[in-house]
Amino acid sequence: MKLLDMTLKYGNATHDYPFSPYAVPEGFRGKPEYEYDLCIGCTACAVACPSNAMNVELNEAKDKLVWEFDCGRCIYCGRCDEVCPTGAIRLGQNFETAVRFNKEDLIETGELELEHCLKCNKAFTTKKLIAYCVQNFLKVGWTQEVIDEKTKYIQTCPECKKHDAAGLITDYKGARR
Ligand code: SF4
Ligand code: SF4
Repeated sequence: MKLLDMTLKYGNATHDYPFSPYAVPEGFRGKPEYEYDLCIGCTACAVACPSNAMNVELNEAKDKLVWEFDCGRCIYCGRCDEVCPTGAIRLGQNFETAVRFNKEDLIETGELELEHCLKCNKAFTTKKLIAYCVQNFLKVGWTQEVIDEKTKYIQTCPECKKHDAAGLITDYKGARR
């Protein structure tokens, strides 16, 4: 009788999911949702992901940067969401992530166009990342001349920058002699 009294007093303590939808609480860490249009291919999510669920690779044959998310490896830690500078990846509310027969169905991909180095023509980053940086240069209030100079700098690959910097050091050493 005591149990019956308690049941009448407190009502249902369980949910009838899956027969009706289950509303997750605020702050729930569900499946990461990818918004391709916002992705600039910066690779921050892949670097931060502790379980290698997110990978970003430069595919020279396709001349594309390939972004890939394998939900089967995700531990829902939210690191990708924290580090993404544009909001392209956000933890959503979806917790129903099972697939029927094929594990490949857990994988999502996005392909971004590559930018080629102004000096050696090697592909090294994405066009969207360069455009994102230029947008931010405009916000700083620099003159067009400075923006053009900085844009050329970011359109140069790290190897060419290193090469240029080595030349500068040689000149500097030479000047001191
Ligand atoms: S939630 Fe964590 S494990 Fe899942 S993709 Fe993002 S960083 Fe990787
Ligand atoms: S951190 Fe965001 S913008 Fe950068 S590659 Fe990942 S999803 Fe794209």
